[in-house]
Amino acid sequence: MQIKRNPTRSVSIGSIAVGAEHPIAVQSMTATATTNIDATVALVNDLQKAGADVVRIAVDSDKDAEALAEIRRQTTANLSVDLQENYRLVEKVAPHVDKVRYNPGHLYHHEKSRPWQDKVKFLADVAGANDCAMRVGVNCGSVDPNQKELFDSKDSLGPMLASATEHCELLDSIGFTRYVVSLKDSDPSNVVTVNQRFAELRPDIPLHLGVTEAGLPPDGIIKTRIAFEQLIGRGIGDTIRVSLTVPNSKKSMEIEAGRQIIDDIRNGRLRSVVALDPTKLNIISCPSCSRVENEAFVELAQDVKAMTQYAKDYAITIAVMGCRVNGPGETDDADLGLWCGPAKVNLKRGGEAIGAYPYDEILPKLREELDRLILTKQQTSSAKA
Ligand code: SF4
Repeated sequence: MQIKRNPTRSVSIGSIAVGAEHPIAVQSMTATATTNIDATVALVNDLQKAGADVVRIAVDSDKDAEALAEIRRQTTANLSVDLQENYRLVEKVAPHVDKVRYNPGHLYHHEKSRPWQDKVKFLADVAGANDCAMRVGVNCGSVDPNQKELFDSKDSLGPMLASATEHCELLDSIGFTRYVVSLKDSDPSNVVTVNQRFAELRPDIPLHLGVTEAGLPPDGIIKTRIAFEQLIGRGIGDTIRVSLTVPNSKKSMEIEAGRQIIDDIRNGRLRSVVALDPTKLNIISCPSCSRVENEAFVELAQDVKAMTQYAKDYAITIAVMGCRVNGPGETDDADLGLWCGPAKVNLKRGGEAIGAYPYDEILPKLREELDRLILTKQQTSSAKA
């Protein structure tokens, strides 16, 4: 399925570009001590081999920056760095990387009397002179304190949004447009809301998506997947990272999980209900997991897709979920929902349960419901005409 992406700017990062029509880039980050050059190079190369488009490295000190120069010599991966509080380190790291990330909330810690605008201009000048892209990385845990003061203490997303947009305005005003924005939170629903709101305000800026502290797999992947489905499924997001708590030897899972999520969204294998094309029939089926109690689920999902093709020009969403644990809740937003038990398949219309039917009886029941829904839609549109 073709997902219609937001018309964002194209931003080049080393050998790749993100935004516009470029494929969604998948990133990961090293968790080795940057000064341990051998271990860091090995991990960077491992991630590149797994398909990482960009690998991020944390740099906190002059020693890290020196190590970075050597790491650069030993890898062809596209490298990004996270600048922490010491924004001036950018001068030492930018010559060795393709992208620099700064956090607006961290620009207050050093040189307190220097306005943040001057610091951002300095960062942009150094990035520009070294052929680097930038990321304005806003994080729920370290939001600009000045912005926080302007909002109700219960509103955590308002200050994040205001901080991101004011940095975009400043960067645009000084002619530096080679940047992306990220708005990360540990709560997937906040990630969805804040990124949707940002994309409405600035549909031109490429977004880097992520859920912070997502945790261990599989839960960390599921949490991230839920947020990404709602965003990528609606055209929002140009580059992603699935942050997982895994040892370095398994860090490539972040890339595999990211690619899998993108592929699943493209093929309608979703955990949550998203109208991938709001004008057409959307069949979504979960990617399945150990909770599936009857393997006939996979065949059923394929049969539903084939049987319902006659309704392809109707804006109807049908969700097919593999288990009784999450199926009931996750089909709530679909027009018609099915979820699978060991011997029967449950059917519902919107939030209302219709009944549970044996696997070999569910398709005709679904067809009856679909016909009824199509009739209602036809009557409504002829009443309007
Ligand atoms: S709906 Fe159930 S079977 Fe499907 S992915 Fe979710 S938890 Fe697993």
